[in-house]
Amino acid sequence: MNNDKNLLSLSLDELETLVTVLGDRKFRSKQIFGWLAKGIDSIDGMTNVPVKLRESLKDSGYYIGLPKVAAEQLSGIDGTRKCLYEFRDGARVEAVFMKYSYGNSICISSQVGCLMGCTFCASTMDGKSRDLTRGEMLGEVLKMRTLTDEDINHVVIMGMGEPFDNYDEISGFLRLINDSAGVGLSLRNITVSTCGIIPGIKRFTDDFPQVNLAVSLHAPNGEKRQLTMPVARKYGYDELMKACREYTEKTHRRITFEYALIKGVNDSEVDASELAGRLKGWLTHVNLIPLNEVKGRDYKTAEGSSVAAFKKVLEKNGVAVTVRRTLGSDIDAACGQLRATRG
Ligand code: SAH
Repeated sequence: MNNDKNLLSLSLDELETLVTVLGDRKFRSKQIFGWLAKGIDSIDGMTNVPVKLRESLKDSGYYIGLPKVAAEQLSGIDGTRKCLYEFRDGARVEAVFMKYSYGNSICISSQVGCLMGCTFCASTMDGKSRDLTRGEMLGEVLKMRTLTDEDINHVVIMGMGEPFDNYDEISGFLRLINDSAGVGLSLRNITVSTCGIIPGIKRFTDDFPQVNLAVSLHAPNGEKRQLTMPVARKYGYDELMKACREYTEKTHRRITFEYALIKGVNDSEVDASELAGRLKGWLTHVNLIPLNEVKGRDYKTAEGSSVAAFKKVLEKNGVAVTVRRTLGSDIDAACGQLRATRG
């Protein structure tokens, strides 16, 4: 059990134990769980919970760990909202709300910073300060729902941090948000994105076959991948492909490969053909992301013509591919940028 005393980290079972220990009846746990899922920010706001139990919760050190909004940007174009959240200890992470034709989506962070060291990414520049807990991740979603006053239909764990470097809290979060006594979000509406930690992919395939998996590939082979992604030195390309194939075979779900196109690094037609050769005839989807240029990094975004040519090669080979739509282009849309500009 998580002992940071954030009520949002507790499962219904854990809440049941807690209210019993505090001398009340089991059914109170369902009331509390329901309030939390509504995004309530104070224990005293739980009006149908007896004052005595509310006082005991507070006296035992429990609180509702929703983040504060330290900075916020709202796109005037498409309703994209980017928040810099701050938790009680001052830790800051980003989350982004986006409106798509198929529903509203939130991209949340899983760690404060990141240890993975991808050379094009802003989130990893200062390393990792700590992991986020399951309750803090739930708090990112609940807070955004309150701020936007809109439903959240999809959650993508694609913000700051590497989810499989924080596996236990990620799995706790998935179970919490899926619980029908609370938010009740379908696991099919959740996507987890990894830089390719193979043991994490294997565990995830067994534990959460209904959850979508995205893998940040960014290169057509191991040598190129090692140039920008240190994790590729630890986990080989072929072995990664094998683990991804096992995910699609076991779950029958399409796997997404993210591919940030960097000018002169990985955006040639030769790169595209090599990638197509690997993915041909397999249940995949390639999401091409023209690189978001990050201050302090030398990489440039690929030209529009190379993006189009790259896409065409994949299509010719029957590989499903889309270019990521740029939402919130009038705000600091790239990963880690809001945090970087606010210090
Ligand atoms: N650690 C996880 C999730 C966080 S990053 C992962 O690696 O998948 C989310 C996605 O944004 C990843 O595909 C990541 O490689 C990509 N990304 C990071 N910096 C970027 C940038 N400057 N431009 C475009 N995509 C970037």
